[in-house]
Amino acid sequence: MKTSAFGLTLIAILFLFISSIFAQTMPSGADPALWAKALKIHKKAIVVDGHNDVTSPLVDEDFDLRTNSIGKFHAGGDPFHTDIARLKTGGVTGEFFAIYVSGSTMKTGGAMHRAVDMIDATYREVERNPDSLVSCTTAAEIRRAKKQNKVCILMGIEGGYVIEDSLYALRTMYRLGVRYMTLTHNVATNWADAHRDERHGGLTDFGKEVVREMNRLGMFIDISHVSVKTMNDALDVSTAPIIASHSSARGINDHTRNVPDDVLKRVAKNGGVIMVNFYPSFLDARTNKEENERSAKLRDQLAAIGEQYKNDAKGLEEAQRKLLAANPIYVTPYTTIVDHIDHIKKVAGIDHVGIGSDFDGVPFLPAGMNGAEDLPLVTYEMLKRGYSETDIKKVLGENLLRAMAQMEKVAGDRQISGQGSLKKLALPK
Ligand SMILES: [Zn+2]
Repeated sequence: MKTSAFGLTLIAILFLFISSIFAQTMPSGADPALWAKALKIHKKAIVVDGHNDVTSPLVDEDFDLRTNSIGKFHAGGDPFHTDIARLKTGGVTGEFFAIYVSGSTMKTGGAMHRAVDMIDATYREVERNPDSLVSCTTAAEIRRAKKQNKVCILMGIEGGYVIEDSLYALRTMYRLGVRYMTLTHNVATNWADAHRDERHGGLTDFGKEVVREMNRLGMFIDISHVSVKTMNDALDVSTAPIIASHSSARGINDHTRNVPDDVLKRVAKNGGVIMVNFYPSFLDARTNKEENERSAKLRDQLAAIGEQYKNDAKGLEEAQRKLLAANPIYVTPYTTIVDHIDHIKKVAGIDHVGIGSDFDGVPFLPAGMNGAEDLPLVTYEMLKRGYSETDIKKVLGENLLRAMAQMEKVAGDRQISGQGSLKKLALPK
C-alpha cells in the first residue's frame, strides 16, 4: 500500500503530538502510570519559579530567549537552563527574572545603571515574543496568563545595592515593575547584613524604613542571601508576607544560604513562602564539600587556563569545562529538592513552601535535571511521596500567589500616592 502525502502528514502530526507530550524525559525506573499522572497535574497547575538568572546573558551575551539553549553554555562555561521552549515544556506560568547586581558595585558604583539595563532587556524579550510571553506584576495577572497559555515574566531585584540607599529609587523600581527585592546578595548593603557579611547586626534603622516602604508599595521582601539576624529583623518589621525567592532548608543542609528552622516557623506565622533553591551545593552537604574541595584543588590550574585563554572566551569556556569534567564530584539527585520541600512542610506547613530554581545562576543542577523543561520531575517526586494534588499545586505556585495577593492587599490604597511626607521617606544623610 502506498502512503499518501496526506497520510504522511497525519503521521508527522501524530508524532509531533506524542513527542510534545513526552518532551520531558521520564525518570529512570519511574512508574509510567504515576509519571503520566504527574504530568497531568503539572500541566493543570500554575507553576511559579521564584528565581532565574537568565537576565544576565540577555544583557551580557545578547542571548535571545527564542534560541534553543539545550547544550549551550554561558560565556563563563556554565550550561544554559532556560529558553522559551524549555519554560513551556516545564509548564512554567510565572518566572521571576532576577535583576541581579553584584555586591562589588558597593565599591565600583553603577548598581542602578546595571539594574536598568536588565529591566530593559527583560521587557524587550517580552516585546519580541508577544505570542509566548507576557509581563506580569500581580497575582491576578499570573492567573490570567495561565488561561492565555503564556509564560509570565516577573522581575525581582537581587541585591539591594540597586536602590543606592534611596527610597526614591526603590519607588521607581516598583513603578518599573519590580515585585521583590533580595535585600542583599553576598555582601552587606549600607543598611542590611548578608549571610557572608555581617556588619550592622541585621537591619539598620534605614533598612527597616526600606522594609516598611516595600510593604507600602507592594514589593516582596526577599530574605534569600541575607544573614539570619536580617531575616528576623525583616520579619519583625514587615506587615506583609515575605519570601525567600531561592533558598533551601538548613535543617537538611546547614549552609548559610539556607533558612534555619526558627525562621521557617516565623515565616509560617507571617504568611510567607520559602522557595527551594535547586543548586546541589545548597541542597546537599556532601556535594557542597566536594565542590569546595575541587575548587581549592583546581584553583591554580583554573587561573592558568584563565591566563592562557584571556582573549578567547570560547576556548576558555571549553578548557574550564574539560578540567571540571576530568574531576567529577558527587552531585545530589533531583529528589533531594523534595527532601527540602518535605522539611519545610514539616516545620512551617505545606502553605509556606515553593520553588525557586536559580536556573542559569548556578554551575550545575541536581542529577537527573537539565533545565526548566525538567520541572515536572519535582511534581513526580511529590506525587510518589504521597502529596495530594492540592498540596502539589500549593508548592508549585498557589502558595506564592496567595502570599502575593496578601502583599498587594497590605499595600492597598497606600500604594504610590503614599502617606507621610516625602521628606520623612528620604534617605537620612
Ligand atoms: Zn542568588
